Amino acid sequence: MTDARTKEAIRYLGYGRHAVDEQTLALIDVSFGELDQTTQAKSVYRIFDCKVTGEDQVTIGKMNIKSRSLGKNLRGCKEAVVFGATLGTSVDILMKRYSLTDMAKSVVLQACAAAYLEEYCDDLQLSIGEELKAQNKWLRPRFSPGYGDFDIHHQDDILRMLDTAKKIGLTMTDSYMLTPTKSVTAIIGISDTQEKCHIKGCEVCEKKDCIYRRN
Ligand code: SF4
Repeated sequence: MTDARTKEAIRYLGYGRHAVDEQTLALIDVSFGELDQTTQAKSVYRIFDCKVTGEDQVTIGKMNIKSRSLGKNLRGCKEAVVFGATLGTSVDILMKRYSLTDMAKSVVLQACAAAYLEEYCDDLQLSIGEELKAQNKWLRPRFSPGYGDFDIHHQDDILRMLDTAKKIGLTMTDSYMLTPTKSVTAIIGISDTQEKCHIKGCEVCEKKDCIYRRN
């Protein structure tokens, strides 16, 4: 049976509903094995006060964000988790090596690393969610800079708010790309009411009439 991360890697590879050949499945298997050996995943998060004023104005800690879709998603949240995670530089080195020596493997490894990071973030989010549940608080979906109208320039604010360079070795380039490349920053709203949010986000959530749905 195909596990969740393999399914995700297949999706990243763009197979959709088409059957995946045995050779690609074997490459996926080997790639996840190598990632298990190589990855030095790290994460950091902090909880900040959150205010949504108007339809597209959000303040998280001292960060002011103009975003309609984030504003909608965080409506009703008085706090938010600010979150950063990385698979580390060793994964970048591995991907670079294959990009020079084996193009097919390199493409599959990229997809597997993306799926690996996603799974890592999902697990962290679930464990943060479990802790908050004890206080009758509930998490909304992860929302990253660059998504929808959430300006990528806020990447900089988030890295500084979390001191990610020092804490987990996560920085960014002048064009706001994260370094190491397989890294994520995100905001996760904390709500006092349970919305039963889907861990994969609003796009796959069945609650089509949700008033917090990002779009
Ligand atoms: S649509 Fe689903 S995932 Fe999105 S905020 Fe609503 S309940 Fe949560």
